[in-house]
Amino acid sequence: MNFHIMTLFPEMIENAMAVSITGRAVKAGHISVHAVNIRDYAANKHNRVDDYPYGGGAGMVMQAEPVYRCYLDIMAQCSENGIDKKIKVIYLSPQGKVFSQQMAQQYAEEDNLIFLCGHYEGIDERVLEEIVTDYVSIGDYVLTGGELPALVMMDTISRLVPGVLNNDMSAQTESFSEYLLEYPQYTRPEEWNGKSVPPVLLSGNHKLLAEWYREQSLIRTASRRPDLLEKASLSEEERAFVCSIAEGARNYN
Ligand code: SAM
Repeated sequence: MNFHIMTLFPEMIENAMAVSITGRAVKAGHISVHAVNIRDYAANKHNRVDDYPYGGGAGMVMQAEPVYRCYLDIMAQCSENGIDKKIKVIYLSPQGKVFSQQMAQQYAEEDNLIFLCGHYEGIDERVLEEIVTDYVSIGDYVLTGGELPALVMMDTISRLVPGVLNNDMSAQTESFSEYLLEYPQYTRPEEWNGKSVPPVLLSGNHKLLAEWYREQSLIRTASRRPDLLEKASLSEEERAFVCSIAEGARNYN
């Protein structure tokens, strides 16, 4: 997976992606991070890339031309490297579709992704119409720039790229993978602050463990995120079970 990021703050992207699991994934060659400074494509001596909005109003708007030239350069480099498949261009925007684990799974199937990070009041609409394929938001709130949203997306997608996590199974059983939240986790010591680890986890019985994981996952989702259950694949018995929990949680609230 090759991430190409169009940004005014490449160091923000590079620094964050260079640590922990993503940092190791870059070193191992499972992912690559290519942050490109849009300012390098400004055509004026002060390297300005923003201007006042037509019609007035607060703030500044990023100009179309530097963004477009930056995009063309990335595409030219990709083509030099033999990439001829159409590459998705994701504009991080509070007006986009809200990012989810399911979207991350779809993006993880691509070999290349281009992220466009806006700043100030956003970017001239004309270049967005020209190059953007997907508009993605990370939630219903407004940040100062698209860098943190791009990092959120790249971190999530990277974990799904084969080889990035030590144990690929862990991404498959995690929260949201099947519209269910993950069961609670415990580690040593066996007893802490007067609380013991649930005995089933010490049993070594794989059948009992699988049943317990599933049941805890259902209880947790029904009580914390009942909205997810609509899309989860459940047996009739499980559906009746989660309905009773969700009902109980509603009455409690
Ligand atoms: N004026 C824009 C609006 O009202 O829709 C908001 C611009 S915001 C201050 C600047 C940049 O931050 C955006 O261009 C976008 O790239 C990024 N951004 C802000 N909030 C975001 C969110 N929730 N999800 C994704 N990107 C976001």
